[in-house]
Amino acid sequence: MHNLSLTELSAQLADGTLSSAELTTHLLGRIAEHADLNAFITVDREISLMQARAADERRAAGTAGPLTGIPVAHKDIFATREFRSTAGSRMLENYRSPFDATVVEKLGLGPFGAGMVTIGKANCDEFAMGSSNENSYFGPVKNPWDRRAISGGTSGGSAAAVAAGLVPVATGTDTGGSIRQPASMCGVTGIKPTYGRVSRWGMIAFASSLDQGGVLARSAADCALVLSHMAGFDARDSTSVERVPEDFTRELSRPVDGLRIGLPKEYFGPGVSPDVARAVEEALKEYKKLGAKLVNLSLPRTDLSIPAYYVIAPAEASSNLSRFDGVRYGHRAAEYGDLLEMYEQTRAEGFGWEVKRRILVGTYVLSHGYYDAYYLQAQKIRRLIAEDFRAAFRQCDVIATPVSPTVAWDIGEKVDDPVANYLADVFTLSVSLAGLPGLSLPCGFGDKGRPIGLQLIGDYFAEARILGAAHQFQKGTDWHTRAPGGTGHA
Ligand code: GLN
Repeated sequence: MHNLSLTELSAQLADGTLSSAELTTHLLGRIAEHADLNAFITVDREISLMQARAADERRAAGTAGPLTGIPVAHKDIFATREFRSTAGSRMLENYRSPFDATVVEKLGLGPFGAGMVTIGKANCDEFAMGSSNENSYFGPVKNPWDRRAISGGTSGGSAAAVAAGLVPVATGTDTGGSIRQPASMCGVTGIKPTYGRVSRWGMIAFASSLDQGGVLARSAADCALVLSHMAGFDARDSTSVERVPEDFTRELSRPVDGLRIGLPKEYFGPGVSPDVARAVEEALKEYKKLGAKLVNLSLPRTDLSIPAYYVIAPAEASSNLSRFDGVRYGHRAAEYGDLLEMYEQTRAEGFGWEVKRRILVGTYVLSHGYYDAYYLQAQKIRRLIAEDFRAAFRQCDVIATPVSPTVAWDIGEKVDDPVANYLADVFTLSVSLAGLPGLSLPCGFGDKGRPIGLQLIGDYFAEARILGAAHQFQKGTDWHTRAPGGTGHA
């Protein structure tokens, strides 16, 4: 039953061939069997089964929706009342939130929720900083396709859990690629919506002007269904966009005949490894066969996305993470002299190396005398990057690129070189800086049989368009239905 799509699961729950309690029990068993993947930080059988029974009752009462009773894994960056919320950090190792994040609420079993069952909290890089899911205090997530490989970061637990058939859908967050990159590396589909679409309330903050919640599932159709329940205006998030609720499945059956797909030359250069280039080219041929028109164009400021992002994101992080002071949240050092020492000791113990590095860089670029030279410049570049996209979307409807220049690398391969990790983000950062929607869909396998993703970028609020284009591709191909060997998942 872990091979079924959301639509199939939903139909079986509706006609009574399957109960949520059965499905949840089955998936909890799979999670235990695949514990070596380290995809979850917290699982609580009792709580998940209690939720499943509540969902079954809702079905029996005739008040169920299409997602009622379907298990979901939440990236452990979303605050949950019933499970601890760690953000992958020692700082929040035992943190219990007094409330649910809006996303958790919207998908969950509350009076206005979709009725999904939380199967557990998915592993992630500490405070969502990283590109490989090796920065989690709870250890790296292994890639189900090849356990020597990283899962991608920072929603690596979410991607690995979906890929291994431990859960049909998982939430993620994407600040600079953290949904798209692990989706690509684990061979699943993942979408980061337009900035402001999904409420950030209760999403533990990394870089507030970039952070955006989204979803990972096996197919674009499944992502579209869940996103429709997850997105929407939230007065509690000041950057939430006020728009009428949308059905993101509405363009799934729209043909791509005549669709203009832009190919920015900066994403197809020598920096892309041959296996990735080949798979992406094959995917584009498929689109051509379906009647799409390929348009060559340029996004000239692509190269500047790495320096601009790695100034802006740490700057915002240094500010956001100042709240972890040992007083208000989470960890507090056991031994200290005065108040200042308490702060220092707590933060020294609670944060890992990458988080500390970002706090230092962020504080530096915001400091008097350097603000103009770094932060302000980065903000100007950000605007230029957004303008590049604006110009591009005058020539095309969607943009297609690789997600990552290479397939997943080996665990440990780049741990001593933070810049090597940063460079791997080159194809995902611009989309985040511009605030555009982007998705990753599986399009083949490369070096060592590791998955490859194709990125589809849409104009603002064009999620339905890119999900539709992805679905049309998935109708004619089977990359998204393949499952890693040894997971008992066909
Ligand atoms: N890899 C990027 C970083 O380390 C993006 C992370 C993210 O999207 N959360 O910041």
